[in-house]
Formats: sequence, C-alpha cells, structure tokens
Amino acid sequence: MTRHSPLTSLLTCGLGDSEYTYFCNGGKVIDKRLQELGARHFYDTGHADDCVGLELVVEPWIAGLWTALTKHFKSSGGQEEMNGALPSASNTLLKPEMLHMESQIELLRLDDSRGRDSEVLEQGEVNRSDSSTSVKELEPSLVRSIPPLSQASLSIPALPPEYLQVHLRESLGQEESQESVTSLDPVFQVPISKAIQLTADDAIKTTLLLELDISTTGFSYQPGDAFNVICPNSDSEVHSLLQRLQLADQREHRVFLEIKADTKKKGAVLPQHVPEGRSLQFILTWCLEIRSIPKKAFVRALADYTSDSAEKRRLQELCSKQGASDYALYVRDAAACLLDLLLAFPSCHPPLGLLLEHLPKLQPRPYSCASSGLCHPDKLRFVFNIVEFPKSEAVVLRRGVCTGWLATLADPLLQPNTEASQADNREDWAPKVSISPRAVNSFHLPSDHSAPVIMVGPGTGIAPFIGFLQHREKLQEQHPDGSFGAMWLFFGCRHKDRDYLFREELQHFLARGILTHLKVSFSRETPVGEAAALAKYVQDNLQLHSQELARLLLEEDGCIYVCGDAKNMAKDVNDALAEIISREAGVDKLEAMKTLATLKEEKRYLQDIWS
Ligand code: NAP
Repeated sequence: MTRHSPLTSLLTCGLGDSEYTYFCNGGKVIDKRLQELGARHFYDTGHADDCVGLELVVEPWIAGLWTALTKHFKSSGGQEEMNGALPSASNTLLKPEMLHMESQIELLRLDDSRGRDSEVLEQGEVNRSDSSTSVKELEPSLVRSIPPLSQASLSIPALPPEYLQVHLRESLGQEESQESVTSLDPVFQVPISKAIQLTADDAIKTTLLLELDISTTGFSYQPGDAFNVICPNSDSEVHSLLQRLQLADQREHRVFLEIKADTKKKGAVLPQHVPEGRSLQFILTWCLEIRSIPKKAFVRALADYTSDSAEKRRLQELCSKQGASDYALYVRDAAACLLDLLLAFPSCHPPLGLLLEHLPKLQPRPYSCASSGLCHPDKLRFVFNIVEFPKSEAVVLRRGVCTGWLATLADPLLQPNTEASQADNREDWAPKVSISPRAVNSFHLPSDHSAPVIMVGPGTGIAPFIGFLQHREKLQEQHPDGSFGAMWLFFGCRHKDRDYLFREELQHFLARGILTHLKVSFSRETPVGEAAALAKYVQDNLQLHSQELARLLLEEDGCIYVCGDAKNMAKDVNDALAEIISREAGVDKLEAMKTLATLKEEKRYLQDIWS
C-alpha cells in the first residue's frame, strides 16, 4: 500500500445466482483486484445467492455494516481515508437509516452480469398466468393463514410514505396498439400456422409445437437462435386485479402522473415501462408483470396501506428479518402475486401509484427456434411446455403467463374437428403472435462442417438441435460430396411413449445418416437390463460413452452443445464432462475443469441453458 493510494479499506457484497457457473463472479473479480491494489477487508465479504433468496445474506450483511464501519474508523483513529473524505459523525457517506433502505443497496451492489440468463431467470420466476382466474377462485388460502410470529419486536426497515401520485383521466376512445409500447425492434405480428401436441395426454408435462408463418416479415434466423414472444397478462386476471382495486369502472381511463406542488416525491417520473396517457387496462395487460412475486420492499409498502392491525402486523412480519423463512415459504415458494396478497389482506388498499412503482416490467419471453431457416425460410417453429404452478396447495394452480396464453391461442388448431383446424385459408382466422428477434448468440453449428457435433438436450432442450439436424440435412443434400462430421444426440425424457419428443423426426435423421448416434435416456421407465439402469439421465449416457466423447472433443476438435435446464441438468452434465475428461485424459479434476474452460473459450463447449 503506497502513501498515494486512495483506497485502503474494502468491503464487498456480491450478488449472484449459484445456478450459474461463475457465482458472484463480478463481486469476486472486483474484490480480488482491489486487494491486489492494496485494499484490505475490514468486514466479511458477502456472497448473496438469488437461488435461495438474496436477503438471506444481504440483510445480515447490511445489518452488521454500520457497527463494522464505526469500529473500523474508530480503530483507525479517524485517519482512514475514504475517497478523500474523512468520515466522522457529521461527515460520513453512509448513514444508518440509509443502510436499511433497500434502494440504497444499489450503492453497494456488484451484481453478476448475466445477459440472457438473467432474463430467463426472470422468465422462470414470473412465468405464470391463468386465463380463467376469478376473484372468487383466488380466495386467500395459505397466505392468509400465515401464523403470526412471536410478539417480539420486529426489525422492519423504515419506508418513506412516498409513492408516485397518478390520476386517471377519462379516455377519448383512441385505439391502443400493443407494439408501440415495447422497446423491442423490430416486432412482427405473425399468424400461427400449425400447432401440434408433442406429448401424450398422460405425460407429466404437456409440450406443444407451434409453427409461425413468417413469410411476410423478412424475419430470418439460424438454427440455435432464439426469439422473443411478446405476451399479455390474462384478461381475467387483469379484471380481478382491477376489481380488487375498485378500479374496474375506470379501466379505460388514461393514467397520468400528477404533478402537485406539495408532492413529496420530488422529480418523480413514471417508470420507463409505464407509458403515460395509456389506459389502466392496457398498462396492466401489456406493461406490468402483475404475476411477479412481490419483493419485500413491496410487501413493506403494502403494510403501510393496510388498516386492520392484525393484517398489517402480518405483512410487516413477512418483510421483517424475523419473518424471512415465512416470506420464503408463503410468498416466494408459493409464488404468490400481488392479487394473492391483496385478497389475503382485504384491508390493504394501496394507491395506484405505489403499484405502478413496484410492479416490474412485463418481459417478453424467449424461445429457441426449433427449425432451420435454410429448409423452411417462411416458417419458424418452437416448442414449450405449458407451465403450471405453483405445485403447492397455497395458491390456485396457474398456467405460465406466456405458455398459458400460447396454449389458449393454439387450442383451436389442436382440435382436429374444428372449423379452424380444417380451414384451407388459415390466414383468415389464425391467431397472431408478436415476435422479435433476439441478439445474436454463438449457439450455432461449427463453420467447419467436418467437425464432430455432440448435442445434449433433455426435454424441450432438444429444440435447437432439431434445427441443427434439419439444417445439416439440407446442407448434405446441397453438397452430396461434402465432408460432414459425426452428429451425436443425447436426449432424455421420462417415458418412451409419453414425452419422447420428435421421436419420428429423430428416426428419420438416423435413417438418413444425418444423425450418426442417438442416445436416449428414460428417467421413469422401469429399467430393463444393466445399461438402461445406468442411463437414467443424459449425463449417465455421456458416461457410458466416455471414451468416444473424449476422443471427439480432445482429438478431433469436436464441439459440444448443451441445452435445457440450468438448475440441475447443466451442472450435472458439466460435472460428468469433467469426470470423463479426467478419466480418459488421465488428468486430475482441476485440470479437466481447465480443459472445459478452454473448450468454452474456443466456443467448442456451448450452453443454452434456462431456468
Ligand atoms: P423436463 O421435461 O423437466 O425433463 C426432461 C428430462 O430431464 C426428464 O427425464 C427429467 O427426469 C430429466 N432430468 C431431471 N433432472 C435432471 C438432471 N439433473 N440431469 C439430467 N436430466 C434430468 O425438461 P423440460 O421441462 O423440457 O426442461 C427443459 C429446460 O429447457 C427448461 O428449463 C426450459 O425452460 C429450457 N428450454 C426451453 C426451450 C424452449 O424453447 N422452450 C429451449 C431451450 C431450453 P425426471 O423428471 O424424471 O427426474
């Protein structure tokens, strides 16, 4: 540490998600670098995990911070430099009350930059909806029965009683188009030209394939690309929320920010995703994630507008430090949304501005292209499971916001005898979906067609590989004398006869020699024979073919692609690959992991993993 270094003291709290390979990497890298520059820790480093709840680490970390700061500055005799400012009681950058305000956490946040993955994480978190939910059906159950904690005093951070003040003005009756509110560009409205249910009726999950007609759009894609679907919240749910807020008769009214001289919230603006002058109905339908799980700051704010003292206390408990496990159980794990809380706490009457401030942006949902633009330039196919949750008895079973909506749109096409499914000219009645391309990624086939390709994709993780195989088939047709490398596919499903997605297509690719090796694992079939017993999951099959895989990857410049669930599968597959490399190359686990990291850097180990 030199005399000139302005930085001597260090504290970090990294925020991350342990589902991802580089957990809290941003925080760790900065921490390490600052130490290299001479800074020293005076307070424990926090690594908060979104997987289990950031607050479990963040809250105690913040709670202890002030004491640590005071102790540190006292022990350094008040001479410690902090960006040139001498901290003292009157001249300090942080004040205790600031440390208790969640918004101030931003000051200290070293969040991981997760790009697409973070969006997908949000998708997983909010991917719920119900096209037929009414207020009556949503009668409060578990949330209402949250047992009160002991009467011990609660540590509830203070919240300023400020919120955006908005007013509703009667509509002039103009049309409202949904495209103009999205920041995505370009957006195409395309008809659904085909819908197929890929799973048997008795499968655990229902998987649908939708085909979009993109012939009039100029939308182009490569296999491995993903695209966004812009989806609305369900009408019935928006209606229920409006009813509960006693705003149903003003749903067509336009929302404006109220600028009053006495407004407490200085310089207030509506959040960027809430367009001023749009109707309330429109904003709740297209702009706000009304199904998001209310964060503690939101619950805390709701408590301030709850008149019944028992209800208020219960809401306060939920957002208190002591109530962390109740919040996790009754709100987060039960996937309760704003409407659930409002129904469970009938004396809660929050102002509209507060809701506009706390409800996050309704995100477009990403899907992988499950076709090849080379074979079908006018069509775009994708697959998805109809998401249903939560699995707890706490809240009424709902469908995912987007998958539920898509399933409803697809429904007439799935019925064999309806006018819709038999019509010649489907354009007349075909339901339309707004889509937008996603940023270019590197999950593409190798440019050298002779390089071996290993694909690992259980469940709907198979989607991009169907595109890969179609693409390769077309290329092989176009270049019959070309040199094409082996294509291995490791697919996994539960039952042979219920959820073996694309079974016929895969047999077709095998028969044509496009797919050279197909290894399927069935996780819930009664095992027959030793090999079957060993290969419950894709990674078990990888292990069974460890020699060939090591050769393809380490000696023949092969590429491995993994697509599907980030939480368990991708991690387990990564572990299996490390074991395979360690065993086959005769190196220790650490060396094997370095090899995998090199393969990633060389874009020969690619993941497209979703939560
Ligand atoms: P799934 O049906 O839940 O599971 C498919 C198979 O994987 C089942 O046999 C399951 O077995 C097995 N499995 C469970 N845990 C595993 C583990 N740790 N390792 C390996 N296999 C395991 O799959 P899914 O719901 O389709 O999930 C695919 C994921 O891919 C989702 O996260 C989805 O969001 C994502 N994704 C979607 C798209 C898209 O375009 N829609 C594209 C790419 C990826 P058991 O259940 O019997 O244990």
